[in-house]
Amino acid sequence: MELKPEEISSIIKEQIKKYENKLELVDVGTVIQVGDGIARLHGLEGCMAGELIEFPGDVYGMALNLEEDNVGCVLLGSDKDIKEGDTVKRTGRIVEVPVGNALTGRVVNALGQPIDGKGSINTNKFSPIEKIAPGVITRKSVHEPLQTGIKAIDALFPIGRGQRELIIGDRQTGKTAIAIDTILNQADQDVMCIYVAIGQKRSTVAQIVEVLQQRGAMDYTIVVSATASELAPLQYIAPYAGITMAEEFMAQGKDCLIVYDDLSKHATAYRSMSLLLRRPPGREAFPGDVFYLHSRLLERAAKLNEENGGGSITALPIIETLEGDISAYIPTNVISITDGQIFLETDLFFAGQRPAINTGLSVSRVGGDAQIKTMKAIGGKLKLSIAEYRDLVAFSQFGSDLDPETQARLSHGERLMEVLKQAQYSPLNVEDQVIILYVVTHNLLKDIPVDQISLFEKEFLDFVHNNYPETVKMISEREGLDDEIRENIKKAIEEFKKSF
Ligand code: ATP
Ligand code: MG
Repeated sequence: MELKPEEISSIIKEQIKKYENKLELVDVGTVIQVGDGIARLHGLEGCMAGELIEFPGDVYGMALNLEEDNVGCVLLGSDKDIKEGDTVKRTGRIVEVPVGNALTGRVVNALGQPIDGKGSINTNKFSPIEKIAPGVITRKSVHEPLQTGIKAIDALFPIGRGQRELIIGDRQTGKTAIAIDTILNQADQDVMCIYVAIGQKRSTVAQIVEVLQQRGAMDYTIVVSATASELAPLQYIAPYAGITMAEEFMAQGKDCLIVYDDLSKHATAYRSMSLLLRRPPGREAFPGDVFYLHSRLLERAAKLNEENGGGSITALPIIETLEGDISAYIPTNVISITDGQIFLETDLFFAGQRPAINTGLSVSRVGGDAQIKTMKAIGGKLKLSIAEYRDLVAFSQFGSDLDPETQARLSHGERLMEVLKQAQYSPLNVEDQVIILYVVTHNLLKDIPVDQISLFEKEFLDFVHNNYPETVKMISEREGLDDEIRENIKKAIEEFKKSF
């Protein structure tokens, strides 16, 4: 074999030319800047978006900004012991939270750590907080009702299992009250509930937990709490942590209800985080991806088809508006993502119409398909009568003396509105709702004074349960209101009126 020295030397030269002295840092890096709960890190080449980063002193961070020469990271703990030059480690994991039955009845923080003083959570199952929402093929359209126990909602704006219904209104209009009443009403409905408190006062959250405990609702509820005093990143991940816990139950074929109280504060927390990370601000100083923030969260609520277990997650996001302005940035975003909204109004609230639901601006886009037949028939009639009443009220303000027919219609409307009032913590089952709404829509309360109606309602329902239990049973078992049920209700009310 003949050796060609030129050839060999050219290969060696080529290799020398290509040789570079490059040192790659893969799994460890250094802190180049830290402050305001944000750290910039150098040297984490293959870092993933949302990856958990370990800092000295058992503090963790979440990598959010993957830039060319550094990684921007939010800290999930205190930054007071972290200094420039500290070594950090990649964990290779996305932020995860514990999932499973062990969480039922517990109060946890955004990382799934217990904060109720009842000891550790016995589960070794964890799940990443960011997941792709179930696809189109695995879903089914919403068809079963999720009873809230609130007459005005179940009759007029019914919610189905797997639906996303927004609760929107100014401060102190009863938004949380609706969500809590809905959770209380799930006691015998086999629905797992998750209440996510974001940016609220600790005392408020404590009160809510207390109410849930007293009324036995903690047996099927998980509370995830990231209060106003906690770091913005924790408030940011809290709803994702909550839905991850719900997804575990959905995968088991169960029905879940998740409440985000509230997403306005969630967006605010995200805004402060983004500004500190130096992401460019857009409208109302929110970063450009604030729509995606909520859309990827709410898309994870779903009704799965039978092949995938048939589980569901119903989401009730809450948004706080300023002076009823639903055209602000975050409200419009969330309205466009959800399947309807329940709009609460300060004026109605102070006029004593509680829950203060504005029947004109509220809507449920898919729930009607899920409503039971009986309720559908009554709800349709009720909606028309209320719309008519509202027109009439606006019109009759101008004239002083009204003809008897208009007066009768006004007084009928007043009674309708009176029946839609409902005290807090008193959810009503669907059979009772059907009975009382049937009675009022058929004008059978015209001889009862308006201020006596709530008392009448309570005593009449007790009377029906005691004296006509088979009618109650018929309503829950039969499809639609047949003549027999109608006759029975009429008979019951005539009998009861004699003693009232
Ligand atoms: P915030 O903006 O502070 O979160 P919110 O809109 O969540 O307020 P809630 O805290 O639910 O409102 O309710 C405000 C007040 O109204 C509470 O004191 C509550 O007890 C009362 N309230 C709510 N719903 C009803 C109701 N149906 N009947 C009587 N009182 C009610
Ligand atoms: Mg509230």
